[in-house]
Amino acid sequence: MIAEAARDLGVDTDCPLTHSVQGQLEGRPWLQYISYYEAGRMERLLQVSCWVVVAYLSGMRDSEIKHLRRGCVSVQRDPDGHVYRYRLHSVAFKGEEAHGVAATWIVTAPVARAVTVLERLQPDEEPYLFAKPPSSPSRRQRQDPHHVPGSSTTIKDMTALITWINAYCLAHDRPDMVTADKGRQPRLTTRQFRRTLAWFIARRPGGTIAGALQYRHQRIQMFEGYAGTSSSGFRDEVEAEQALARGQYLAEMSADSDRTALTGPAGAEAEARLAEFARHAVFEGQVVSDEVRLRRIVARHDPHLHPGMFVTCVYQAERALCRTSSGPAETPAMADCQPLACRNAALTPANLQALASHLADLDNTLADGDRLAPYIRHRLEEQRRETAAFLTRHTPEPTP
Ligand code: SF4
Repeated sequence: MIAEAARDLGVDTDCPLTHSVQGQLEGRPWLQYISYYEAGRMERLLQVSCWVVVAYLSGMRDSEIKHLRRGCVSVQRDPDGHVYRYRLHSVAFKGEEAHGVAATWIVTAPVARAVTVLERLQPDEEPYLFAKPPSSPSRRQRQDPHHVPGSSTTIKDMTALITWINAYCLAHDRPDMVTADKGRQPRLTTRQFRRTLAWFIARRPGGTIAGALQYRHQRIQMFEGYAGTSSSGFRDEVEAEQALARGQYLAEMSADSDRTALTGPAGAEAEARLAEFARHAVFEGQVVSDEVRLRRIVARHDPHLHPGMFVTCVYQAERALCRTSSGPAETPAMADCQPLACRNAALTPANLQALASHLADLDNTLADGDRLAPYIRHRLEEQRRETAAFLTRHTPEPTP
């Protein structure tokens, strides 16, 4: 019978699963097939890949992710049925509360998709998405069938994922390997993801990295309007990172003796605040490099200067045009900034450059003004006139 089967089916050293590969990488199937012998390993890799997506794009802690259960995503739709918001429900662990509190995170579509994948991966009767996958031998031996492995297992699985990615890249001549850290394969921990996301959201919201738009999207979704993450403290973490980034930037600025002084309505006030901040954050021309110390200095001696693209805000609540009665009094609402009219506005050379580019864009648009609706054209002409007058008033005379 065996010889007959071998004649009919042929003989192979492997045992491909009977499924069609659907995942595509640059328009081609990512694998020819999945081997029966590899299925268990693939399950673990898929599960930890989902963990990475959820951790990195939500800012959740490992314990919060491990509490995710089947059905944890809810969606909100517009009248046309399009999803405009995903909510992820789990348990937040912050401070002393050992059992956690129910919490909701606002997340993006990739996180919701990772949850769907995990729901398919686990058998219907399994409530926890990060319980050991069905083929895991240890799952079958355990008395507690819903046991969810701890951080050390996830760390091991991430190491296995990096090894797999790099072997795959090598075999397929791909350049997007996970790069070595000091000559070695990096060893990621579960805590790094939350901190790294906070770092990127705080420091590169409009930067040039590939993910800039995504981070901006993350930040807007998470913090500017929605209540998500409030119980988990992630917002506090991002704000602490933002304060540190601002402190480093301002300390470096105040230590630079060659820079051009700030101009604008609050230029002189900005210089005075910078000089005062330098007394605490700069020693013998060197900026304090110890992060913990600099965080303390910013907390105690915050100069309340907020660098922006078109303006450097020298915040003083009573003069702030962006302030609303319901908004917080201690920080400006930079998204509602009125740089041309506010007395808190100071200008760095980069701000002046950004305003000049904006003026050039307005000129270009108005050159084709016949195609604009009259109201729009009128508003743009007004904006152009105000921007040009502002620049004339506040651009310093070139030094001879
Ligand atoms: S309107 Fe602009 S310059 Fe004025 S306080 Fe608000 S952010 Fe600062």
